[in-house]
Amino acid sequence: MIRIEGLSKSYGDVPVLRNCSLDVARGEVVVICGPSGSGKSTFVKCINGIEPVQAGRIAIDGENLPSKPAAAARVRARVGMVFQHFELYPHLTVLENVCLAQIHVLKRSRDEAQEKARSLLRRVGLADKEASYPAQLSGGQQQRIAIVRALAMDPVAMLFDEPTSALDPEMIGEVLAVMLELAREGMTMVVVTHEMGFAKAAADRVVFMDQGEIVEVAETARFFAEPASERARLFLSRIL
Ligand code: ATP
Ligand code: MG
Repeated sequence: MIRIEGLSKSYGDVPVLRNCSLDVARGEVVVICGPSGSGKSTFVKCINGIEPVQAGRIAIDGENLPSKPAAAARVRARVGMVFQHFELYPHLTVLENVCLAQIHVLKRSRDEAQEKARSLLRRVGLADKEASYPAQLSGGQQQRIAIVRALAMDPVAMLFDEPTSALDPEMIGEVLAVMLELAREGMTMVVVTHEMGFAKAAADRVVFMDQGEIVEVAETARFFAEPASERARLFLSRIL
């Protein structure tokens, strides 16, 4: 579903990703972890075509991602992305937030878009918030709306970059629950997170990055039981 081959990227002269390769199968959930600055966010931005890359190839559902971000827009529209900061449009209601791209990018009618939005809002328990503005919602609610907005586009895969790290502890669970349900329904997902409980419950494989490299890719249980690399072992000993 997602095929990344020999991806390298620099900001100016500074290499940030070095020869990264990863295949994510349809329906697979992959968690990416690693120290701060290791390139995790950059990696998922490249998968989504937001960041230009210097070398390597990325294909989504068999379609090559053009290396220039502008040309990648069409492929990018097929992948949902949820960031750490919920980035909803503050001047639009929840319903308008979830409908906007459906109408303008997918050319759905307003009725069709609203129907889709409402059914997804029901699924995440936020049907009663459709007329609210983002500022009237908790962080956890806003993040669930951000997930719904991405899902409304019928993505072939979803990318998450630390979706719970800006949330108060009591709201983390409600967002992870939505993500876990999505994983169980068979969504292809790449998730950057330090929530190792989520990784254990939802991930098929764990990717460990350090200094711009994919150091280790392992089946989840194996990664936690016996990480192959010293760097991953050290990382786990710090965060677990
Ligand atoms: P964190 O866990 O703190 O989110 P990360 O693994 O997501 O870290 P990235 O944000 O991908 O790491 O950053 C990787 C490296 O690239 C870092 O050294 C960072 O300083 C650098 N970097 C990131 N974005 C830019 C940018 N827009 N311009 C220049 N350097 C950048
Ligand atoms: Mg990051």
